[in-house]
Amino acid sequence: MPIIALCHIDRMATWEKGKTEFECPHCGEKYECTYMNFPARDKGSFNCEKCGKEARSWDGCIDYFDFKLVDSKPGNM
Ligand SMILES: [Zn+2]
Repeated sequence: MPIIALCHIDRMATWEKGKTEFECPHCGEKYECTYMNFPARDKGSFNCEKCGKEARSWDGCIDYFDFKLVDSKPGNM
């Protein structure tokens, strides 16, 4: 997971924020979430709404929130 490598925060920078997509490693359900640089180490996890298992966990200075299911339409991509 290269995300951890982004851990340094520039004092001048505004907090980085963006969206990322990932798949549940257990059932393949696709999710979109918002991430933001967080000025302190934070840890958390997200459980898949479909299979109930842990789909993502993090431990670092990026926080993830606002998880949403992504509708994958057949034939698109
Ligand atoms: Zn799942």
